[in-house]
Amino acid sequence: AKTRVYLLFGGRSGEHEVSLMSARNVLQALDRSKYEVVPIGITKEGRWLMTGDPLRALTEGVAAAGGFPVGLLGEPTRGELVPLAGEAPALEPAERVVFFPVLHGTYGEDGTIQGLLEMAGVPYVGCGVLASSTGMDKGVAKALFKQAGLNVGPYKVYLRRDWERDPAAVRADVEATFAGYPLFVKPANLGSSVGISKVKRPEDLDHAFAQAARFDRRIIVEQGLDAREIEVAVLGNDDPIASVPGEVLPGAEFYDYEDKYFNDRSQTRIPADLPDDLVQEFRRQAIVAFKAIDGAGMARVDFFLERGTNRIFINEVNTIPGFTRISMYPKLWEASGISYSELCDRLIELALERHADKS
Ligand code: ADP
Ligand code: MG
Ligand code: MG
Repeated sequence: AKTRVYLLFGGRSGEHEVSLMSARNVLQALDRSKYEVVPIGITKEGRWLMTGDPLRALTEGVAAAGGFPVGLLGEPTRGELVPLAGEAPALEPAERVVFFPVLHGTYGEDGTIQGLLEMAGVPYVGCGVLASSTGMDKGVAKALFKQAGLNVGPYKVYLRRDWERDPAAVRADVEATFAGYPLFVKPANLGSSVGISKVKRPEDLDHAFAQAARFDRRIIVEQGLDAREIEVAVLGNDDPIASVPGEVLPGAEFYDYEDKYFNDRSQTRIPADLPDDLVQEFRRQAIVAFKAIDGAGMARVDFFLERGTNRIFINEVNTIPGFTRISMYPKLWEASGISYSELCDRLIELALERHADKS
């Protein structure tokens, strides 16, 4: 019997559009002789679309009124979908069911949907609640990485509320905390560079905080590093493996949203041009980072390699990394001998294995 794959995409996130791009590629790659694929599009309002062509509806923006409110109550034995309200198509119960969240950012990569799926008792691809939520929060993740012995650059987390109440005090604190500029100001929980600013002078701090504050109640400030950007893909559950490292060569001032998805200025180099000892060190550290957050399934671990000193800093971990065919994560595996569709297969297997391991 085929395994039913509920593919979840879209979502209530600043990275909604990115998710649609990733989902399109996964939809194309899943082998229909093995899988019965049920696409589920989540609108920006959080309604679930299961009828018609949800990917098209979301892409063309015609989904506004459709769908049902989030309501997934699984039946542990069958993994059946039961909407809390409204209509979902009736599907025959399937023998093997797995959910594949291709959702980036808030309400997708941050442990919330994972919690829902966990509660419903259904297997799902990728990290669990803990790894997803700690990995998503750049402040919490850095604390865990430090604890695991990895090198983390200077950073500090501020509350949006404190900045709104007394921006001068926050500015003064930033000035006192960091050695100098540039600084990076980011929403603590997001991705795709949304809401991130590179700040080169004190006058620009306010604007940067305002940008980040649009997306999160926690704002992280980091020391800007002059560094190469090296990324490693990790795959597995309790015995994860690491890919060859790749390098991102940002086209702009930093690797921003436009750069990531819409222009051709940024480039990737796979494998990265690195001496062998550094290659091994990056791979080792990627696994350490994955384990530090109790990762499962997949994650892309991103590092900085400081120019001049060759010091490695861990930047962040992405538990649902960009997943188009030309995204770094699948390409790193391709370069390591695992094709895109094989990668999808493995992720689904890992999801089922982890699910079995829990009970
Ligand atoms: P996201 O989760 O949105 O990808 P990142 O923390 O990776 O957020 O930041 C996006 C980009 O901004 C990075 O890829 C890098 O180009 C740049 N950047 C972020 N933090 C720093 C830093 N501390 N020093 C130098 N560049 C940085
Ligand atoms: Mg990043
Ligand atoms: Mg990220």
